[in-house]
Amino acid sequence: MATELVLLGTAGAPMPVPGRGGISSALIVAGRVFVVDCGRGSPSAFAAAGLDFDRLDAVFLTHLHADHIGDLPGLLLYPWGVRTDGHGPLAPVRVYGPSRPGALPAGDAVFHRQTTICPEQPAPGTADLVAHILAGYAYHLNVMPLDSHMPDAGALVRATDIAVPARWPDRSPVPVVVVDDEAVLVTAVAVTHGRAVPALAYRFDTADGSVVFSGDTSVNEDLIALAQGADILVHQVADLSYLRRHGMDDAELARMAALHTDVSQVGGVAERAGVRELILSHYLPAEPDAVTEAEWAERAGAGFSGITTAGRDGLRRTLAPQHLRRPVMSAPEVASTAD
Ligand SMILES: [Zn+2]
Repeated sequence: MATELVLLGTAGAPMPVPGRGGISSALIVAGRVFVVDCGRGSPSAFAAAGLDFDRLDAVFLTHLHADHIGDLPGLLLYPWGVRTDGHGPLAPVRVYGPSRPGALPAGDAVFHRQTTICPEQPAPGTADLVAHILAGYAYHLNVMPLDSHMPDAGALVRATDIAVPARWPDRSPVPVVVVDDEAVLVTAVAVTHGRAVPALAYRFDTADGSVVFSGDTSVNEDLIALAQGADILVHQVADLSYLRRHGMDDAELARMAALHTDVSQVGGVAERAGVRELILSHYLPAEPDAVTEAEWAERAGAGFSGITTAGRDGLRRTLAPQHLRRPVMSAPEVASTAD
């Protein structure tokens, strides 16, 4: 059974736009479905892609901005009824994502918050988020089983915060192992997404190959290290020159540059990572007619010797089993002369 990637949604930023769903991707490994981010429309896109909700195994959140988690409640709650094999509930959907940050980030004179929402817990982590979803939907979870056969709500979901160790200057971090079982190894590193700390990138290694999801990040050395030699790098992309032409001022653009990788930079990231295919996603601007797919691919592919693909909602890639692939010639090992 091959590993398959499906882009469920490719829009960046929370604002809904016609023609693109919010950021979300699925990776099917040995019949199990892993979802990375749950942006707007993710559950509907999951169904439209022909995926089975009773095969949903785990969800990986890159960070806790709304465009990445807005439809997590739906992804958990809409298919609740099928999360059973007739004898009892299926294993809970696992949700992995960032832990609580050490402290609530502060702003500055230009960009700052006025009201702090939920001051007793102003920066929840992934486990907090899932607990709040269950609490917020307690009516549904407690009352619906009285009128309809439902699996035990207590078995619906398990959330895990991913603890990313503090980074040492000038030293590449060892990726955190998130999942390691017979079918898939999932590892993560922290990336750089403005004040959204921690923000994560994920790498999935399977018997068929490897796929890396950048999450939202400016150019990040640890992501480049994580993605070394991957078959596919699904990378966010922004066109800062477009945003400038459409009214973004210098202060906002400087923020954007700290949040995102520009279209002029992403090919260099893919080249340095040595990936086989770069697939663009999480577009800014998100409107499909703002920048054509051909233009995205051409500009992003500059400086990249592999394949550059402008991702779109519903795009699929199948990774061939390793034994069907051409063996990769590796450079002969050089004996160390260090003493
Ligand atoms: Zn985003």
